[in-house]
Amino acid sequence: MSLNDHWMRRDLEVLWHPCTQMKDHEHLPLVPIKRGEGVWLEDFDGKRYLDAVSSWWVNVFGHANPRINQRIKDQVDQLEHVILAGFSHQPVIELSERLVKLTPAGLDRVFYADNGSSCIEVALKMSYHYWLNVGQGQKKRFITLTNSYHGETIAAMSVGDVGLFTDTYKALLLDTIKVPSPDCYLRPEGASWEEHSRAMFAHMEQALAEHGHEVAAVIVEPLIQGAGGMRMYHPLYLKLLREACDRHNVHLIHDEIAVGFGRTGSMFACEQAGIRPDFLCLSKALTGGYLPLAACLTTDKVYQAFYDDYPTLRAFLHSHSYTGNPLACAAALATLDIFEQDDVINANRALATHMGQAFAHLAEHPHVAEVRQTGMALAVEMVQDKASKTAYPWQERRGLKVYQHALERGALLRPLGNVVYLLPPYVITAQQIDFLAEVASEGIDLATRSHVSVAVNPGLHPGFRDPG
Ligand SMILES: *Cc1c(COP(=O)(O)O)cnc(C)c1O
Repeated sequence: MSLNDHWMRRDLEVLWHPCTQMKDHEHLPLVPIKRGEGVWLEDFDGKRYLDAVSSWWVNVFGHANPRINQRIKDQVDQLEHVILAGFSHQPVIELSERLVKLTPAGLDRVFYADNGSSCIEVALKMSYHYWLNVGQGQKKRFITLTNSYHGETIAAMSVGDVGLFTDTYKALLLDTIKVPSPDCYLRPEGASWEEHSRAMFAHMEQALAEHGHEVAAVIVEPLIQGAGGMRMYHPLYLKLLREACDRHNVHLIHDEIAVGFGRTGSMFACEQAGIRPDFLCLSKALTGGYLPLAACLTTDKVYQAFYDDYPTLRAFLHSHSYTGNPLACAAALATLDIFEQDDVINANRALATHMGQAFAHLAEHPHVAEVRQTGMALAVEMVQDKASKTAYPWQERRGLKVYQHALERGALLRPLGNVVYLLPPYVITAQQIDFLAEVASEGIDLATRSHVSVAVNPGLHPGFRDPG
């Protein structure tokens, strides 16, 4: 028995994996990873895989990065964790100072959570509670975009809309207002991203006019709807949204959990629209992909609405056990150092250009409707019919074929349904991008050959993070 098989067996005896139909593992081998280095992951039999999806979008400077490793090692000997209520510590203070400096002017307060979904809960609760504190308790609904994703907890799912995925839990969800997404994949022939984003804004304007009085906040994934298939739109939409939120007295929440820290080409996506949201949610790449940590930044105006004598009960009495964990903060500080010292945002421009060039030929593929890109995120939309953009039935799980082919070739490419995408660590080289383009092309060729047998389990959802 190979070492991989050994670990796989032990795993499957006791684990229940995230976003997985466990029965798939009757025929789909699990990949136990022994070590990581840079963009590479190595399994127990010594096979290496190029991590093209940054291990679920979190890793930006490679696995086992010496600079981040050292910072964590130094921190662990000093202080591993301490309660953040009534107590504080150096890494969390320094990190907060740097996040305030780094983000758009006016985001002056940092509240910590320990994962992205919890961070969304913080923003939603804070927004609602703000309006309550200023005597506008009727503002308790949220506006969200179709095809959006904001996490897995109940309220985060409520503001999400990755259809088949949240439908199961519909009975449990908050009643939110859904506005058609500016998703430019769906733009009419001949329209530019900018024109389409502007045209789609009419729906938002209408929803705000109709519901503004009862709405606490609009929540969006700026520029890229990640889990919804890497669908993209123009920054103009965010600019219009900021202006309309002000006019209708509604908060704007930017969920930059996936797009923050350089993914869209700027440090934060909101910079491209020249705006400042009322709440900015950060996680994933915040710690370089090392440890769970999330930060919700907000304005002094919001903060002041909670600041009062204790008996008024205006305080934000929300907490997570690992809030502001020192090891996670140390990893985040090391990550921010790398951004600064290596001038990463500028260096990424050349990489992004190369990515675009390496994948451009796929646009001509008979079963590819679009190759789209925003900064360091690139997506290829596989379709049954190119002219009408008719999607493959999800039951055929074409993406899974790409995933399996990539594994064979030594790459971790994990499509979202029919969308094959690249969201690589920023330490990837041009040569490695070329390799991934080759693997993706082969995989797409294989997956789009006319006949693919239908999935064994028709009840299986093609949801977020499923390689189906
Ligand atoms: C991943 C993600 C989340 C949820 O973060 P978790 O840490 O997985 O809970 C929320 N919003 C967006 C846009 C994400 O991509």
